[in-house]
Amino acid sequence: MKLNLPLYVNSWSQLFLWFIALICTAACSAERGNVQDRLSEVISACGDRFVDVIIVGGGPAGLAAGRKVVSLRRSAVIFMGDVPGGQLIGSVLVDNVPGVPGQPGWQLIESEEACIKKSETVHIEYDIVVDLAIDRSSGKKLFIVTTKEGDAWCAPAIILATGGTAKFLEVPGEADYVNKSIFTCASCDGSLARGNVFVVGGGDASIDALMTLLNYVPHCTLLVRKHALRASAALQERIRHNGHITIRYGVEVVEVKGDGERMHQLLLKTDHGFELVDADYLFLSIGHRPTTDYPWLRLLVACDRQGYIGVDCHQQTSCAGIFAAGEVAMPFVEEHQLVYVYGTSTRAAKQALDYCDRWYEEIPGLKESLAPRLYQRQRRLSGLQTAPNQYDPLY
Ligand SMILES: Cc1cc2nc3c(=O)[nH]c(=O)nc-3n(C[C@H](O)[C@H](O)[C@H](O)COP(=O)(O)OP(=O)(O)OC[C@H]3O[C@@H](n4cnc5c(N)ncnc54)[C@H](O)[C@@H]3O)c2cc1C
Repeated sequence: MKLNLPLYVNSWSQLFLWFIALICTAACSAERGNVQDRLSEVISACGDRFVDVIIVGGGPAGLAAGRKVVSLRRSAVIFMGDVPGGQLIGSVLVDNVPGVPGQPGWQLIESEEACIKKSETVHIEYDIVVDLAIDRSSGKKLFIVTTKEGDAWCAPAIILATGGTAKFLEVPGEADYVNKSIFTCASCDGSLARGNVFVVGGGDASIDALMTLLNYVPHCTLLVRKHALRASAALQERIRHNGHITIRYGVEVVEVKGDGERMHQLLLKTDHGFELVDADYLFLSIGHRPTTDYPWLRLLVACDRQGYIGVDCHQQTSCAGIFAAGEVAMPFVEEHQLVYVYGTSTRAAKQALDYCDRWYEEIPGLKESLAPRLYQRQRRLSGLQTAPNQYDPLY
């Protein structure tokens, strides 16, 4: 039997292929519709706590990432954790950020927070993240964060900015003089140093600290617990014949003594017994611990041996959709300064939002369908009563 086939179909097998393609297209769009429905259900379960990006950490990195999200008119929530403002809160004077006049760390943090609070799209929560899970029930990967207060937030992308802490000696008297006479960042607080200045350490960072301190004082003493330096040969070479540096090996600080306001002496344990030395400033360079000891974090992203989160040049971690910024993803301690931190967090925010866009694009119409929900929520959070006539074009 001869059939009058359309011009673009010249055989039965081609007709069959067209038929299959038609069915697939119909099935795909039905599936997209299903995914969209299921996604709406999951998002509804989050109440109205759905944002483009969830930022875990309220130190300089988290806040800078939040600022970038504000500038792109996208939505985010920043969890401040148990130390809102992060390590910078302890900084007496920040004078190494270009364009920023010298000011205490808390002041810098306060103005960052104030800028974000003025925005309609980024919300700050003074809460701690206790869990991060992936929901795939809708057919799309969605992150769900649970907080100590019991709230659940969801987002297609996450930025981890949980920072870290410098290691301390944990000897009697030390705690009384931290941020008064004892510091952990020579490039941040070195300009305060006067008189008898000591550095404790033996690795690359301690040599870096010594070289920085010599810009402010004529002489420094390096106290090394072991009988050799761990620093690279090249760095050791730099200080070996430096007449402004004394290196003492096999020495441990066992107590810090002072008048409660300022440190005056260090009690040292040497190979020959105990020794009391006059000391005005002590810079600790004995390591840094990234805040990654959370089971939920370790389960999702790969960390290096020291615990730093591994990232690629886009700040992307080993888990697609999770980005990391700031000190938690900076294994080189010498770089633990705001200028570097800001760079990584701005990049993480941009990349997280690009990822979000690709996530939305997989289902045509999804972004538009979520936009009213996001916009209304943000307006309510920021206390604005009137509904906008047109949604933000950036959505
Ligand atoms: C005393 C001191 C002085 C300094 N001075 C200077 C200076 O003058 N100039 C300079 O360039 N640098 C300075 N630095 C270094 C600078 O402060 C750090 O590089 C910077 O704070 C790192 O920022 P971060 O956001 O990556 O981490 P952090 O500052 O460590 O912030 C981490 C944040 O993550 C939060 N967090 C952790 N876990 C959770 C969780 N589960 N849920 C929610 N939130 C969580 C914490 O609450 C905290 O807010 C100083 C550091 C110190 C310690």
